[in-house]
Amino acid sequence: TVVTRFAPSPTGFLHIGGARTALFSFLYAKRHGGKFLLRIEDTDRERSTQEAVDAIFEGMAWLGLKSDFDEVYQTQRFDRYREVVQQMLAAGTAYHCYASKEELDAMRAEQMARKEKPRYDGRWRPEPGKTLPPVPDGVQPVVRFRNPLEGQVVLNDLIKGEIVFDNRELDDLVIARGDGVPTYNFCVVVDDWDMGITHVIRGDDHVNNTPRQINILRALGATPPAYAHVSMILGADGAKLSKRHGALGVMEYRAMGFMPEAMLNYLVRLGWSHGDQEMFTREAMIEKFDFDHVSPSPARFDMEKAWWVNHQYLKITDPAIIAPEFDWHLRRIGVDPANGPELQPVIEQQRERCRSLVEMAEKSKFLFAELDGYNDKDAAKHLTADGKAVLAELAARLQALPNWTAADLHAAVNGFAEARGLGLGKVAQPIRVAVVGMAVSPPIDQTLFLLGRERTLARLARAVS
Ligand code: GLU
Repeated sequence: TVVTRFAPSPTGFLHIGGARTALFSFLYAKRHGGKFLLRIEDTDRERSTQEAVDAIFEGMAWLGLKSDFDEVYQTQRFDRYREVVQQMLAAGTAYHCYASKEELDAMRAEQMARKEKPRYDGRWRPEPGKTLPPVPDGVQPVVRFRNPLEGQVVLNDLIKGEIVFDNRELDDLVIARGDGVPTYNFCVVVDDWDMGITHVIRGDDHVNNTPRQINILRALGATPPAYAHVSMILGADGAKLSKRHGALGVMEYRAMGFMPEAMLNYLVRLGWSHGDQEMFTREAMIEKFDFDHVSPSPARFDMEKAWWVNHQYLKITDPAIIAPEFDWHLRRIGVDPANGPELQPVIEQQRERCRSLVEMAEKSKFLFAELDGYNDKDAAKHLTADGKAVLAELAARLQALPNWTAADLHAAVNGFAEARGLGLGKVAQPIRVAVVGMAVSPPIDQTLFLLGRERTLARLARAVS
């Protein structure tokens, strides 16, 4: 069965590129009825933080990219890495190298002077009939992998196609440092092997690690997995993605008012396509995702498009699914969601005109909290002497309504406008300013219905006083 993994280094939040890689890995596993694993690559202890680990979990959870296994931490696997190093030393596929830093620097300087590409010259690499230098005193040797000297590594990348690497171009990689700490590329290899990873899906900044990893896997007698190297994401202007373009943590997109489903939908289209279809449910993504339609060239991040997708989601998603996210946003702006109407009908009324949940929360705040005041311009325009007279008279009518339903409110407001020979705007706009604080809201009957009798009448009274 297919097993994929997402293997972030916890040196920062889960950013947009990482989230897309995670999504592709997740989708590919699910598409093939396989499993998806989250592995925290925290061997770089100086740059890894618990905060970043938490941020990765938080982002993955928000996106609903659930690992099918307990998460793995590389720092908990050092014993295992050391064990494999010992195995390789015993098998002769790795060897000790006692060259000092000074020696290696000198070697490189000479190579550069000869205009050669700097590489380890194999001075400690055992060969039949070769005499190795005498082991120096007091030096903790590194362990190097005995990379094949001849031949090629042919990588059939699922996205980039065939890439051929010459073994002559590859050094004997250090797999364990002098202090015994295994190196990054080696940990990845042991992990992918132990965890039965069948498909390695990762950023294409790792392409050059791949032939080394394949050679080590072969030396261990393992079958290398398939690889899919995903291109980077550029800004809309074609420059490297920066904060300005939207290279933010996934949770910042939550804070901006994105739905997780919309985020996934937007992310999956960064590089992958299925005809000209733009909207995909999670199920549809799982059903259709494949690497044949992942572009090998960089994708461009387009914030406007992301907002468009989000708005589509807000418009079509069952309000019951939006409600918990909306609740989170209301609390975030200091509003108690319990202090007002049910959230689902509010969502139904607001979603047409809101492309973000932040906008929806701001525009719905008046239903849950007292008004901070009126918008100056709107008040000057609509809370005039005439406007106030309208409100006073209407308030009396609304007070007398036996039932507070949208239909009854509709009839009452329209009936009043007609009776007074006023255009509906002349009535509705002063009401809006009085109860919402500004002259924009969902239809007036719905607005008053959601706000409730008590709050409506209190606000009308306050506006005319
Ligand atoms: N830890 C690496 C990164 O965050 C990914 C390595 C891999 O997927 O093999 O870039």
